[in-house]
Amino acid sequence: MTTSTTQDLELIRESVRALCEKFPESYWKETDEKNEYPEEFIKALTEEGWLSVLIPEEYGGSGLGMLEAGIILEEINRSGGNSAAGHAQMYTMGAILRHGSDNQKQRYLPKIASGELRLQAFGVTEPTAGSDTTSIATTAVKQGDRYVVNGQKIFISRTEHSDLMLLLARTTPKEDVKKKTEGLSLFILDMQDQKDKLTIQPIGTMINHATTEVFFENVEIPEENLIGEEGKGFRYILSGLNAERVLVASESLGDGKYFVDKAVQYANERVVFGRPIGQNQGVQFPIAQSYMQLEAATLMRDKAASLFDAGEKSGAEANMAKYLASEAAWQAANVAMDTFGGYGFAKEYHIERKFREARLFKVAPVTNNMITSFIAQHVLGLPRSF
Ligand SMILES: Cc1cc2nc3c(=O)[nH]c(=O)nc-3n(C[C@H](O)[C@H](O)[C@H](O)COP(=O)(O)OP(=O)(O)OC[C@H]3O[C@@H](n4cnc5c(N)ncnc54)[C@H](O)[C@@H]3O)c2cc1C
Repeated sequence: MTTSTTQDLELIRESVRALCEKFPESYWKETDEKNEYPEEFIKALTEEGWLSVLIPEEYGGSGLGMLEAGIILEEINRSGGNSAAGHAQMYTMGAILRHGSDNQKQRYLPKIASGELRLQAFGVTEPTAGSDTTSIATTAVKQGDRYVVNGQKIFISRTEHSDLMLLLARTTPKEDVKKKTEGLSLFILDMQDQKDKLTIQPIGTMINHATTEVFFENVEIPEENLIGEEGKGFRYILSGLNAERVLVASESLGDGKYFVDKAVQYANERVVFGRPIGQNQGVQFPIAQSYMQLEAATLMRDKAASLFDAGEKSGAEANMAKYLASEAAWQAANVAMDTFGGYGFAKEYHIERKFREARLFKVAPVTNNMITSFIAQHVLGLPRSF
């Protein structure tokens, strides 16, 4: 991995900002209103190589780390955009990179790096299991040289804009394993190849997120698309989840900083009772408090990213970064709404759209309750609560 200097990081910020200027807030407003996938933006990001920064150079990426990747997503969200449309193309391949075979790496990573293949669907959540991932009911049964998958996933985002899905399924029933985390396996599913056996139904949500429900009916996955060893999939997704949390934290930081930027500008400009509203402590204090919380959350994101990049344990820090950043962003969202008064609700000011988008990260990819219970149990040694 290449180590970036402060100057390199600033250059990344400036370059991403320059790209984002070509996609102003009106672009995001329009895609949101039409519930359209921001295809042109994703193409531009891909062409400039921003979605392949975590892929090593030998496979066609730029071999950068989690901090650089986080900064890219942060800047997109700070510009008023929504990087969730492309974030999974950055990190989902981590499962192949860290646990895949040489053959899988050679076959997939260069094409993911170039954008020829999109691997940006990550199939974990199921309606009957919810946050209790080890209770998923989708099965993959070995039959000859392939696995046959049956089941259902929910809230699987970007499936209609992805060629491949990283799929978690049960290969050994829960009652037959010693630990419930065993018996789950991770697969690379070629969705194009199996489209007749997959039913994909879009779910209308309060944000433009291209999320879907997916039904699997005798979907076939060749055995060479099993990642690592059968039954160890849960362990493989854990390191990927840490990456995802650092990146989602970065998106929240971008959202939060967007709200602070907007609130400061508006509070300086809007004159009521003969003075800028920002002159009132009732208006300026919440903005300043949000700024401080975002700065603190940024330090935790930076710490989690450097631990991850150094190959050290980063679970606690990645979780804390995601929690602190999403809460700080949500607070900033509410502060911006208050600062803008009635105009916060008017679509042309964009605050209401970003407000809706920022709310997601308190819930997905993992709820902040789950994070709190992780910290209570695994960091503080309190009794397991469920
Ligand atoms: C827009 C969107 C996109 C998504 N994209 C994807 C995707 O691409 N891939 C994917 O796999 N998933 C995706 N998800 C799913 C997301 O990860 C889940 O919604 C989330 O993990 C919560 O699961 P759940 O909705 O089933 O909530 P539940 O597990 O039903 O939880 C509901 C509430 O109860 C709380 N709760 C439950 N159990 C406990 C407990 N023991 N202690 C304390 N609180 C508890 C939870 O914290 C939560 O607040 C997406 C979701 C959304 C909304």
